[in-house]
Amino acid sequence: MSLVLTVDGPRWRAHLEDVAAANPGLVPVAKGNGYGFGLGRLARRAEWLRERGHDVPALAVGTYEELDQVATRWSGDLLVLTPWRPWVALPGPSFSRRLIHTVSRLEDLRALLAADPRARIVVEHVTSMQRHGMSARELWEAGDLLRKHPGARVEGLALHLPLAAGGHYSEVTRLITDAIGADVADLSTVWVSHLTGRELARLRTEYGDFAVHPRIGTDLWLGDRGALTVTATVLDVHPIARGEHFGYRGRSAPKDGHLLVVSGGTAHGIGLEAPTGEHSLKARAATIARGGLDAAGFVRSPYSIDGKQRLFAEPPHMQASMLFLPAGAHVPAVGDPIDVRVRYTATAFDRVEITD
Ligand SMILES: *Cc1c(COP(=O)(O)O)cnc(C)c1O
Repeated sequence: MSLVLTVDGPRWRAHLEDVAAANPGLVPVAKGNGYGFGLGRLARRAEWLRERGHDVPALAVGTYEELDQVATRWSGDLLVLTPWRPWVALPGPSFSRRLIHTVSRLEDLRALLAADPRARIVVEHVTSMQRHGMSARELWEAGDLLRKHPGARVEGLALHLPLAAGGHYSEVTRLITDAIGADVADLSTVWVSHLTGRELARLRTEYGDFAVHPRIGTDLWLGDRGALTVTATVLDVHPIARGEHFGYRGRSAPKDGHLLVVSGGTAHGIGLEAPTGEHSLKARAATIARGGLDAAGFVRSPYSIDGKQRLFAEPPHMQASMLFLPAGAHVPAVGDPIDVRVRYTATAFDRVEITD
């Protein structure tokens, strides 16, 4: 009895192919919980895109620890998005030649070249995100250093931009100009995140001698939400009278109704995010005035029954949750599926079912 992600396979695969076709040089990102699908599945899917003839030069993972889950399922290059640091052990020979490191500090560049003079590296330039990356000045020094290490393979420049759709183009051109000025060896590829299709097209036109590698996760794997359905199952139903006690905390029901035990709990990531709703003081005051259930301290859950978002009777348990259904609502039966709205990147599904 589980929390299940059901994927309309033909529709999902068609979307993946559309994104790959529109983004030559696509670098699919498979990190974290694999956007809900799992890392292994995404690696196999990226391989499939390549078999279908799409230009997919590399697969990106978030951390070095994630490499093992994708390296046997994907045959191309492997980019690690988290910049390498001197305390990170270099992976063994089984895929080290396919591995591309992101390097974001001069001292790391020095240490990496000392540890592996033939390392393949992408040099990260800091963007307005201010997360990781070298300044323009540090890029100059990196250029100097790299010219002294002819064995190192510079695979390009990495730019990680904020999410705002559009409006990054002038920043990107300024950053590329910095890198060209720094004369970083063999710089002919730019690995970018979060540019719009139009910005990418412009980049390809204006920097015709550069290869553009867009790193895309969300818009690839989760870009067609209509192909995805998340369901929980009703595990138990109990009628409850006003004033009757229930739950771990022995609280009492504010009204007559039903308690529903449904699959999905904290272990799945349920309840970690307050679902969007009316949280303003004014809205709360209005529900209290109406004698609404959230006035009794019940908070909204991500579960919907009959198209209506329902309230948690108490905070979610580890693998199940208790909902309160007020009298008058249609009561589902044990075994019925119910819809859940989740954040895919923060949810551990028990099962992913992809239809043929
Ligand atoms: C996660 C990540 C991406 C992919 O981001 P999405 O919003 O999921 O497409 C791209 N680049 C870097 C550096 C990242 O960490």
